[in-house]
Amino acid sequence: MDVLIPAERIQQRIAELAGAIAADYDRRPVTIVGVLTGCLMFLADLVRHLDLALRIDFIQASSYRGPVTNPGELHIQPELVPDVAGRHVLLLDDILDTGHTVAALVRHLEGLGAASVRVAVLLRKRGRQEVPVEPDYCGFDIPDEFVVGYGLDFNDEYRHLPYIAILPRFPGTDAAP
Ligand code: 5GP
Ligand code: MG
Repeated sequence: MDVLIPAERIQQRIAELAGAIAADYDRRPVTIVGVLTGCLMFLADLVRHLDLALRIDFIQASSYRGPVTNPGELHIQPELVPDVAGRHVLLLDDILDTGHTVAALVRHLEGLGAASVRVAVLLRKRGRQEVPVEPDYCGFDIPDEFVVGYGLDFNDEYRHLPYIAILPRFPGTDAAP
């Protein structure tokens, strides 16, 4: 697979993002809410740079993209309710694609009574946004390719790779996986 973002570059950029986050929160306690499972590596590496009063919680969402449901319709796992009432929340996701997931999760967290919600994504795909979501922190803008590694999967594989790679399209087809 072609490496799009090498491991060292990811680590450098995460240190930069952590610097910006630490400066913005300036000793205000923050609750990081990671979107399972893709946030795994990003969250683990980011929080180790953050010298803040910090809690970690998780949320899980899956979108149904089958022919019978609207694209972007989101199911939020009801048994995983992060404790965010009155707290300043930083929502962490691996990738911003159409924007439906992040937009819905921000509304959901506000509905749970969060005092504020900011958004950090590691990756943002150019030219794909259907919902106007402007992340407060974004690691890399990437081209419209299907990427894996560093938490991102294809059929639950490749999450463990320390770099971001482009998954090759199947020969003879134009379809994204
Ligand atoms: P959105 O709601 O922004 O369209 O979708 C975001 C979700 O779609 C991400 O959290 C991720 O799970 C999945 N996704 C979008 N693009 C990619 C990609 O290139 N690779 C992988 N592995 N997942 C992606
Ligand atoms: Mg995801």
